[in-house]
Amino acid sequence: AQERYASIRETPTVTQDGARINMVMNAGLMADLPSLNNSGAEGVGLFRTELQFLIRNQMPKRSELVTQYKRVLDAAGEKRVVFRTLDIGSDKVLPYMKHVEEPNPALGWRAIRVGLDKRGVMRMQLQALIRAADGRPLTVMFPFVAQADEFREARWEVKKTIERERRLGHVLPETLEVGAMLETPSLAFAPQKFFDEVGFISIGGNDLKQFFFAADRENELVRRRYDTLNVSFLSFIERIVERCAISETPLSFCGEDAGRPVEALCLAAMGIRTLSMRPASIGPVKSLMLRSNLQEVRKIIADARHRGEQSVRPAVMDWLRTQS
Ligand code: PEP
Ligand code: MG
Repeated sequence: AQERYASIRETPTVTQDGARINMVMNAGLMADLPSLNNSGAEGVGLFRTELQFLIRNQMPKRSELVTQYKRVLDAAGEKRVVFRTLDIGSDKVLPYMKHVEEPNPALGWRAIRVGLDKRGVMRMQLQALIRAADGRPLTVMFPFVAQADEFREARWEVKKTIERERRLGHVLPETLEVGAMLETPSLAFAPQKFFDEVGFISIGGNDLKQFFFAADRENELVRRRYDTLNVSFLSFIERIVERCAISETPLSFCGEDAGRPVEALCLAAMGIRTLSMRPASIGPVKSLMLRSNLQEVRKIIADARHRGEQSVRPAVMDWLRTQS
């Protein structure tokens, strides 16, 4: 499939009306790294770090993590890599960490909540990231931030770790960006001050959608029930775009929908300019973007909303058919 899109691999993604879309990829395994070149990805928008923790029966050593993160940064070269700190809990349980039975794990002790309660693990991972960066730029993202203070505490932990590393004589990152994933509706309504403070925001669409519609992403009975192109969800996305625009906070989208061409097109039409997706999706998404005029898509979406439609999908699909 990559072959089919080889001719546009190095082509920057610019829509017919001149919007530049940043196409980055999701990764989590060393085996994903060659895709950085094969897919035409402009960077790694989401590096999921939990796999290195999940595939073992004991906590990985800091030195092992340093080696792995170094390999990721070496492979990326000049391209930016967004490392997401450990996102465990919910569906991802570490076999060697005391497991508490939770009635609703998806709403439970997970991601940054675990990190803030188990500072040792968070610090160890931050140290490994700083050491792996070894003087290069470093980008760290905290998952599942539900309110501003969680992000502030985590960022304070980053600052403390940087200080400690400096004292220990390690080379510090050339630049440091610290961002948050917006995966719970609450964060979209945080005080504007939060948007001013945060380094960047990435919408974790998989979780955000599950909480927006109250529909478990793991449950076959409901997981496909609600459309990402539902007007309520798109309005919500638009609101996040607007809030980030006020503070000029860089915004990306890194859920599975970023890799679905029609969804990606609508997200771009709502104003999202960085999409992070699985490498194999870059070709198909880019191909559609290159052919499309986002202002027109925006108009189709606005008209469908105006008519009171539940999802803009039928209107967008009709429009796409007239385009080919
Ligand atoms: C998401 O929730 O959209 C996301 C990118 O994170 P994960 O799928 O790993 O929960
Ligand atoms: Mg998530």
